[in-house]
Amino acid sequence: MAYRTEALFRDDAYLKTADATVVAVNDRGGAILDRTIFYATSGGQPGDSGALERADGSRIEIAATITGETKEEIIHVPAPAQVALAVGEKVRLAIDWERRHLLMRMHAACHLLTVVCPFPITGASVSEDDSRVDFDIPDASFTREEVTAGLMDLVRADHPIFTRLISDEELAANPGLVKSKNVRPPVGTGRIRLVCIGENASVDSQPCGGTHVKSTGEVGEIHIGKIEKKGRENRRFRIRFGPMPAN
Ligand SMILES: [Zn+2]
Repeated sequence: MAYRTEALFRDDAYLKTADATVVAVNDRGGAILDRTIFYATSGGQPGDSGALERADGSRIEIAATITGETKEEIIHVPAPAQVALAVGEKVRLAIDWERRHLLMRMHAACHLLTVVCPFPITGASVSEDDSRVDFDIPDASFTREEVTAGLMDLVRADHPIFTRLISDEELAANPGLVKSKNVRPPVGTGRIRLVCIGENASVDSQPCGGTHVKSTGEVGEIHIGKIEKKGRENRRFRIRFGPMPAN
């Protein structure tokens, strides 16, 4: 049977700790909780690491977070050689916040890139020091400098970033919201989560289940590390933190 974990990070990506109860432990020691602040790997964003603190104060290090049988079932995978948790135990959760915040900044940066480069997305991957977005772009004239300048204009404008839920019908009526060429947002649940940028989503909105910072200013300084050609019309853009190196 699949469990349904309450995903606290969807409403508040800034939760660093929370309390929860163990509802199941799988045969590899993976813990399923009633609620969690640990994001599970999906949509190109890696899952959280961190620790679960037991009532006696001992800590179980969590190396990865993944989804189980369904997207709603979130499994906390312990690092090797950890004590197994028992069903019914109360635990205090703590994510590796420094890493998560880097991922939130990078994930938001990927959204900004899709604003600067408004082309169909064929793939994306977020990591704490280097992220990439692949686009179908017939025109190869983009330069790192131009795209970086466009990104930094959005960062400096410090637009708000927020989420909004819409119905399947609203999404169907606005097909332009979906920028991904191959991945369709999950429909049938009745509600789709949009990540919006700017007052009244004036800059952008697109379906996404990941975690993001609350303003474009919080992304901080970023630049395009590289634009790689991946096939005739496919371009891979790499995003890095910090100013563009001089060379
Ligand atoms: Zn996102």
